[in-house]
Parts: sequence; C-alpha cells; structure tokens
Amino acid sequence: MENPRQRKQQRVFALSELLRLGKIRVRQSDNFVSNETLAIRAGQVRTMEGEHSDPIFATSSYIFENAAQAAARFSGTESGNVYSRFTNPTVRAFEQRLAALEGGLYAVATASGMSAITLLLLSLVKEGDHVVCSNEVFGSTISVFAKVLPRFGIEVEFAPVSDVRAWQSVVRANTRLLFIETPTNPLCNISDIKALSEIAHDIGGLLVVDNAFCTPALQKPLALGADIIVHSATKYLDGQGRCVGGAVVTSNEEIYQKIFKMLRITGPAMSPFNAWVFHKGLETLPIRMQLHSDNAEKLAKWLLTQPDVDRVYYPGLTDHPGHVLAKTQQEGFGGILSFEVKGGRTEAWQVIDRTSLISITANLGDVKTTITHPASTTHAHITTEQRAAAGIKENLIRIAAGLEAVADIIDDLSRAFLRPEQ
Ligand SMILES: *Cc1c(COP(=O)(O)O)cnc(C)c1O
Repeated sequence: MENPRQRKQQRVFALSELLRLGKIRVRQSDNFVSNETLAIRAGQVRTMEGEHSDPIFATSSYIFENAAQAAARFSGTESGNVYSRFTNPTVRAFEQRLAALEGGLYAVATASGMSAITLLLLSLVKEGDHVVCSNEVFGSTISVFAKVLPRFGIEVEFAPVSDVRAWQSVVRANTRLLFIETPTNPLCNISDIKALSEIAHDIGGLLVVDNAFCTPALQKPLALGADIIVHSATKYLDGQGRCVGGAVVTSNEEIYQKIFKMLRITGPAMSPFNAWVFHKGLETLPIRMQLHSDNAEKLAKWLLTQPDVDRVYYPGLTDHPGHVLAKTQQEGFGGILSFEVKGGRTEAWQVIDRTSLISITANLGDVKTTITHPASTTHAHITTEQRAAAGIKENLIRIAAGLEAVADIIDDLSRAFLRPEQ
C-alpha cells in the first residue's frame, strides 16, 4: 500500500505533469510551486531501482517488444523512446525541469545555445519572411542573423535594444519574429519584454527572448508575454563551467511540434551526460542566482567609490538607464556588471592583468568570478564604429560575479587598481 510519504513524492513528481496540463501556474511568490521546489523536484521519474538522484541513460537506442511495437513507435501512434537524437529520458528530465521553471509547457534541449537559436530559426522562418533582432545580442547570434539568414532569402533588420518606438516603426506585415536578449552583454541594457511582445502580437509575429543572463530564477519572459525562450545552458544553468548546451522553451504546442520535428530531422541534440549535468545544475539555480546578484551588486557599489573608475554599469544601480524596467520585470539584477577605468585599452588591460584570484576568461555564469575586456574579446569581431555605437569603449571591463566571498573579490580588484609604485 502507498504510504503518505510516497503519496507526497508522487504529488511532487506530478508537478511538471500538472504544469503541462495547465492545471497549475508557476508564480515566484507561490509557496508550493516556488522556483526552489521546482528546481529540485520537477522532472524526475524514478526507475524501479528507487534511485534518489537521477540516473544517466547512456543509450543511443531502445529495444521494442516486437516488430509491431517498433513500427508504432516510429510512426508515432505509440509514444515512447525510439532513438536518442530525439528521445532520451535524461534529456527529457532536464527539459521538463527547465520548462517547469520557466512556467512553460515544453522544452527542447540542444547541443549548445547557438544550436538552440539556429534550430528555432530553421523551424519558424522561411524565404520572404522579415525578422528583427536587437542590436545588442551575443556575437554569434548577430552573425546568424546578419550572415546566415540572408542566404536563405530572409530579410533581417536590427533595432536598438531599449527603444520600443524604433521596434514599433521597423515591424511590418511579414515580420515573423522579434529577437532580444535582456539584460545585454556587457552594458546590461534592458528591453521591455511586455511592450515588445505586444508589438510582435499586433502583426501576428512572435517574441523570442534569450534568457541566459537572468535565467528563470530572476526573470520569466513567458509570463511577460514572450512566446519563446532560448537558453545557453552553458552559462548559469550549468553554473560550474562544465558543459556546453542549450534549450528552447515555449507554451505553444504548435511551435513546440515544429521545433521538435526539426530537431528530429536535423539532429542538434544534447548528450545525456550533459543533460544530467544541467539537470543537477538547475537544483541550485535559484540560490546561486540570488548570490550571484548579491555579489554583483556589492561589487558595483564598491566600484562606484573607486578613484580609478569612471563609470559603472549595473541595472541594480539607480542611475542605470534600465534600472526602473529591470526592477519591474526581474526578480534580481543578475551577476554581470561592467565598468570603465580611467584611461584606455592599456589601463584596462593592466587592471585585468593585475588580478590574481579572478579568472581572465570570456565565459560567464560560473561559480568562479571572471573578468574580460569586451573590446578585444567578445566584441572584437565588430568594427570600431559598431563598437562605438554599441557604447563599448576601450576602457571597459566586464565582470561576471562568482560565488567566492565578495570581500576576496574586492580585495583582488583593489590590488589590481594599485599602481606598481604605490
Ligand atoms: C553564450 C551565449 C550564447 C551562445 O551559447 P553557446 O552555449 O555558447 O552556444 C547565446 N546567448 C547568450 C546571451 C550567451 O551568453
């Protein structure tokens, strides 16, 4: 007989199923279906072994009872596993947990963040369509929009990230989708998700939000009106810099079917091992994002007091242009901040080179604090004029706050600011 403990566990396992059926909604303030609980409990189906943690299903294919079942599985008349390019229990567990956290019904995991973006475009746009992308998105995302899509007869335009009127004036009857990233890298500019979703829906288009910087722990774009979310799981979903992966999340079944079918055909699938790492990473996501935000805010406030610092960009600071909007659409300000030092590239490189605890790497979303010079790394491929237009100066430094003691990060930076003769 089922005991009360088992019943309770069944109830928690059923969370993602209830979400899928639309019987419950995820609210950040909801006590039972809180981010913290979903992150740990949604999307696990135990096997008959009774394992407490999740297993890794390292298998490429699955066996069938008989030939008729094989035929039924292949045709889709019977649901079940077929082949790990598109059906794997570990990958599915990660997809369900991420979808539950985003307050969405469906997720498709992919081999990288870029493959998630490419897969979604391949699934939803066609020759003759018009798409609008924010002018401040991840470098490879710009390349996909600017260089790849035009080869297939898709018209691409870029619009300024925070200027809602500009987006309004650029959309047309054949605009299929709007694509944004908010907050942006590295200046943390904020896009109005609700306003842009209304602009998209008015012309029958879709709003896609790259939610890599906030994650569902701090921002739920679907609840604000977005149709699709893309993730680079490589960043905060993993959280410890181990694996490359991505995902697409939506509540629209038609969109999900198109993306899933395209994944089945074209194959940018996530490996079961990586899915397991991300699935476990999600368990600590809410608590990590809180601490990343706290540390970033403390660093930003400390940097403001430093004589060698000209300007600090962090949405948690009241003078940041996106502060008010970030406060309304986010639950926290995130772990990324940037600052300008007095001088130019030489001075910026000196500060970076004099740090010893902080890692010099362009990656972010790791427990380790990282430091980078955007003008010569993440934004080196664009022209000097484009960089100037995007506000990325030679004296700009980006920090992704990790989870070390913030006093030690501050200590490292304060030594980096000291001149050798001091
Ligand atoms: C890193 C990143 C991507 C690309 O993801 P990969 O996993 O590296 O392919 C896309 N968008 C944002 C915001 C990113 O930071």
